[in-house]
Amino acid sequence: MGVKVVLITGASRGIGAATARLAAVEGWRVAVNYRLDQTGAEAVVAELRQAGADAEAFCADVSLEADIVGLFNAVAAHFGRLDALVNNAGVTAPIGRLEDYSAQRVEQVLRSNVLGPVLCCREAVRRMSTRHGGVGGAIVNVSSAASRLGSAGEYVDYAASKGAIDTLTLGLAGEVAAEGIRVNAVRPGLIHTGIHAASGEPGRVERLAGSVPMGRGGAVEEVAAAIVWLLSDASSFCTGSLLDVSGGR
Ligand code: NAP
Repeated sequence: MGVKVVLITGASRGIGAATARLAAVEGWRVAVNYRLDQTGAEAVVAELRQAGADAEAFCADVSLEADIVGLFNAVAAHFGRLDALVNNAGVTAPIGRLEDYSAQRVEQVLRSNVLGPVLCCREAVRRMSTRHGGVGGAIVNVSSAASRLGSAGEYVDYAASKGAIDTLTLGLAGEVAAEGIRVNAVRPGLIHTGIHAASGEPGRVERLAGSVPMGRGGAVEEVAAAIVWLLSDASSFCTGSLLDVSGGR
């Protein structure tokens, strides 16, 4: 038994990078996926190696099927095995009301946040399921509290994409439970990352902190802790779970 390998999509910064750091500390070998931010991804990999972990960066746009297939093949070629997947890569969209959305905007959100994770799950199941000669594994999908709040006036399409992630998690968990694969999701609330600036409001977490029962936004490390726990054998009887990491929001 070698050291287990986890592929984390969108790990060049934010929640994905924090998950990569913690997974390395917990003894995983880490495949760091990114789309554009090569500098960020390589900095994460350098940090993991500095800490003594085996890590490699892989460029792939998870909104594209050919990139996803290439990503899983490259990870297999480099590490020789795959034990876990974190479907973390995701995008919001400019804050606005639904009546102003273009089809192109909605399509990009759904491709990145739904099509990508579904196809990444497909590639992971093909490699990890005992049905296909694998030894099992764990999948953690990064959903959002938006899936149950709806994000009215902000990005309803994004919220709907995360609703799809919750349902994907429930369905796939049942489908592969007897094949050695656990599938769970975390639903972060307001977390301090660059995703809010990308949708046009860098101060969004501060503006909405009063709506959080704990009165603050969350840190990426607090989400990473939940993800890495769901990857680990410590959560061996959890599958189909949706774990809110939202300060009570
Ligand atoms: P972030 O700081 O913007 O990081 C997003 C990461 O995803 C980056 O590494 C980015 O890499 C990558 N990415 C985006 N589209 C990609 C694609 N098509 N292919 C490959 N990589 C892609 O965001 P974050 O806040 O850490 O968000 C991570 C996840 O948490 C997302 O699924 C998000 O919906 C979810 N979430 C976040 C919050 C929050 O408050 N921050 C709350 C709930 C849920 P490149 O720059 O290289 O493209």
